[in-house]
Amino acid sequence: MHPVARYPEEWKESLAARGERPFRAQQIFKWIHARGVLEPEQMTDVPEALREWVRGEGVPSVAETAHVHRSLDTTRKLLLRMSDGATIETVLIPANTVNSEDADLANVDDDDDDGDDGDDGAGAPSSAESAKGNVISPMIARAGKPGGTKGQGDRVTQCISTQVGCAMGCVFCASGVAGLKRNLGAHEIVAQVILGRRALEPTEELRNIVLMGMGEPLHNYEQTARALKLLTHPMGMNLSPRRITVSTSGLVPEIARLGADFGGQIGLAVSLHAADDSTRGALMPINRKYPLAELMDGLRAYPLRKRRRIFIEYTLVAGKNDGLDEARKVSRLLRGLPVKINLIPMNPIEASSLATPPMERVYAFQQLLIDSGYTCFVRKRRGDDVAAACGQLALLGAKPKIRRPPS
Ligand code: SAH
Ligand code: SF4
Repeated sequence: MHPVARYPEEWKESLAARGERPFRAQQIFKWIHARGVLEPEQMTDVPEALREWVRGEGVPSVAETAHVHRSLDTTRKLLLRMSDGATIETVLIPANTVNSEDADLANVDDDDDDGDDGDDGAGAPSSAESAKGNVISPMIARAGKPGGTKGQGDRVTQCISTQVGCAMGCVFCASGVAGLKRNLGAHEIVAQVILGRRALEPTEELRNIVLMGMGEPLHNYEQTARALKLLTHPMGMNLSPRRITVSTSGLVPEIARLGADFGGQIGLAVSLHAADDSTRGALMPINRKYPLAELMDGLRAYPLRKRRRIFIEYTLVAGKNDGLDEARKVSRLLRGLPVKINLIPMNPIEASSLATPPMERVYAFQQLLIDSGYTCFVRKRRGDDVAAACGQLALLGAKPKIRRPPS
């Protein structure tokens, strides 16, 4: 197990094998996960010989930030280089880039809290939440000190990747077109958050994590689940699972597994993109394995916490799934499910001639769903100028194959 993916008990085992005392396990785990310190020389209460061993285990070389692209709208895309040279991208999206009508991924849970921490999500984090350590301040990561000042600043959502490329082959998605290069390990998934914290401004706090970057999280279930356990570990970052959303193209057995393993605490987003099997199958090959009826049964069975809703993502592709007939089908399909719908006008990708519909069509689609009683938002494009918008995260240097939906 890579050291950055070890639980405290696993650290204990590897330390015991070296004759070290058990309390060192907690110390090292906290440096890495609570304070975001990967450099052993900064682990000041760890004896020097032990720091050298931690270095030798590969902690500092887990990943490095190769480049930070800043968008004019303050979205930041980090290009991270893994120890094997593979590069991946993660995106920081400040809430201030979201307009007030646009409840999208930057405030996924704003009216969805269980209410047990008194946070209505409308403003700054509650003191109860800060006290639990759920709010990450850049101060903690930067100073590398325990108990740094808790942030009350601008809320940031981080979008993280779970694979290099993706095997699901959705025709409108740059990752899908490129294909799967490899899975990310839990250590590489967590490292995105550790390094992401370092790119926060002093006034910002990391509020939500969405697994909506490159890859299909549930196609890399073991590593994704371990990463979720590490990110929510009380001795580590201690993020609330309610502030983490896993987005899936619809791997039905793994949706059930996620629900069971985390008691429905982790937020679920599902990429729908069509409400009949033939349209969906043409856009998303996974639909041929898990058709809509199975997916809907899977969603109904997800042990959602009370007052929470499933996010339905619907990428609108001109002439493919953006008509009012399709909107009516979506309305019928989702009837009775606790959902929020996010419409995403397709972001153009290089390898495909599929196009973004005119905005009048997008708004007409939205209006029909609103009139049918749904909460439905159009996701604003952020980070477009640095190719950080949905579906644009790409493999650097990879030559995408041209794919077209089967007609
Ligand atoms: N694999 C997961 C999570 C990553 S994709 C999933 O598919 O849900 C995150 C979201 O971006 C998905 O809803 C996906 O359909 C959407 N997306 C992919 N390519 C896009 C594009 N070119 N334009 C707009 N949205 C896109
Ligand atoms: Fe993979 Fe999601 Fe892209 Fe489909 S949309 S190819 S599942 S990353």
